[in-house]
Amino acid sequence: MHVLNDAYCLGKMVSKFYCFATLVVASQALTGYVIPRYVRCNYELSLAAHSPRAERKAMERAKKKKQVEMQGSKLTVESARRKIDALGEVQTRHNSGLPAAEEVERDIRLAEKSGLVLLSAHHNEGIAITRRTFMSIFDTIADGNDKRLLGRFVVAALKTKNFDVAEKAMMKRGVGDGEATAKESSSIIRALIRAGNSDVAEEVLCAELSPPKSPFSQNDDIEVIRERCVCLSSFVLNSLSRNERSEGVHYLGKLGEMGPSAREISLDSCCIPWLKIIQVAGRFESTARKEKEDEGGGGGGGGAQNTVFVSLDALSSFPKIKSKTESNKVYEQVANSLVRRVVFVTGAVSMDGLPAADRGEVCFIGRSNVGKSSLVNMVCNRKALAYTSKTPGKTQQFNYFAVNDKFDREKEIRFGDKFVDQKMDCDSFYLVDLPGFGYAKVPESQRINWENFMGDYFLARRNLRCVFHLVDSRHGLVDEDERIMGVCSQLLDKKRTAYVVVLTKADKNDGKVKGGVLESVRLAMRENFVGDRPIILTSAESKLGRDDIWRYLKVAMQGI
Ligand code: GDP
Repeated sequence: MHVLNDAYCLGKMVSKFYCFATLVVASQALTGYVIPRYVRCNYELSLAAHSPRAERKAMERAKKKKQVEMQGSKLTVESARRKIDALGEVQTRHNSGLPAAEEVERDIRLAEKSGLVLLSAHHNEGIAITRRTFMSIFDTIADGNDKRLLGRFVVAALKTKNFDVAEKAMMKRGVGDGEATAKESSSIIRALIRAGNSDVAEEVLCAELSPPKSPFSQNDDIEVIRERCVCLSSFVLNSLSRNERSEGVHYLGKLGEMGPSAREISLDSCCIPWLKIIQVAGRFESTARKEKEDEGGGGGGGGAQNTVFVSLDALSSFPKIKSKTESNKVYEQVANSLVRRVVFVTGAVSMDGLPAADRGEVCFIGRSNVGKSSLVNMVCNRKALAYTSKTPGKTQQFNYFAVNDKFDREKEIRFGDKFVDQKMDCDSFYLVDLPGFGYAKVPESQRINWENFMGDYFLARRNLRCVFHLVDSRHGLVDEDERIMGVCSQLLDKKRTAYVVVLTKADKNDGKVKGGVLESVRLAMRENFVGDRPIILTSAESKLGRDDIWRYLKVAMQGI
């Protein structure tokens, strides 16, 4: 299996390299350049065309920024002079009269564009004239009452770092008088955040984009909800990139509060850059972990405040991400941020063989072929992790996987090596794959041994945080399942352990549970006194239910 997989990957790499090499040779032969610029450009555009909206917009913004920087770095004396002259003309026009509104808007755009290029080229004379031009434009618009124009001016002045004139324009425009549209307010708020003025940005947010109350009026409220979510995302990204955990958590909480309203108006979650938020949260946690390690403490995310989990909570309050590609990317990022490393550490056949109960633990139990390995692989975003346990001889073991353990520390569990100077990361936990029952033909004595072991395990394993009981969503419960339910209800009740029934392979029935199966599972749960425990519908094929499973894994990750 591994050999086939490797051969497949190698084949893919070779074919990719072959296509690229052909393109290089062909382009060189035709034009004399290695990959002409327009090919690269079209390739980027075609990539953008297939991405969801948020990603496409982010790419466009990055491209624009790069273009400005390129222009700045390649700014010749002649083109700098042309830009300065153009700015001079705008200045004269505004000093000597009162241009029409459209003309002012054009001038603001011109001043912003030229100002950005001159700024990125560190062109002192250019920066000075940009500043004078902005002041002249402000003088002509300060007397008028065009709030929209003032708002546009504020954004341009902030972008070009003309903060004092931007502040004057902000005061003139006023806050919260209801004259600006949600989009205009949103642009100003985001420009203020980028300029490092989060306090004023928050004031504008409260005054102009406060959450509307249900029932929502058609267009206005929908715009406000959308733009508020966009702004809160900017606040989150800004706080986390400045390493401000409590601020980031605060804004993630506010973003999460918008979820129910977003559901009510069926907001397309694509307007919120979830992927970026999870990436930035993951990066933040990794920096925090390193800092903690340098200080001599055990590394690890922020426990209950781990910002990836907080982001996940906010995300799950929103409508599901419509684009499957985007949704897959987001959840893969979640798994990659939360599961840095996962290794098979040991297979236990009795209580003596269990590793020390020094961290949280979750276990997966279900009949053979129910989809246990596939589910474990899905939540950890690994391809063949749990198949390790499928090698002959290991099927009747409790297979232990250490998640987020320090490199090489598994030797401590396997061989008793001591890593005295290494503290454990506080987000480490054990994931336990319990033997599948049902199909395995085992002698009666071994079956009894195994059942006793399972009973002891549930009773005595004090670090067990959650039991995931897997049931095929098409076939429902078998006798062993009901027995497990009974054992769990008796034993888990005494401890603070979660018990979750996971219905697997939902894709085989259009993402639904087969008729009657859900009722029979609920009935059995009630009869076994676990009727109040949750049921999660999953599919390793369509990746359904990943977010729900992660919500319970979180409990294990928060330590013992
Ligand atoms: P285990 O014995 O419980 O670990 O089950 P596996 O994970 O090995 O899965 C058994 C079979 O079911 C394999 O052929 C999987 O490809 C298939 N399978 C597992 N999960 C799903 C699922 O969600 N959807 C579909 N269509 N097939 C699945």
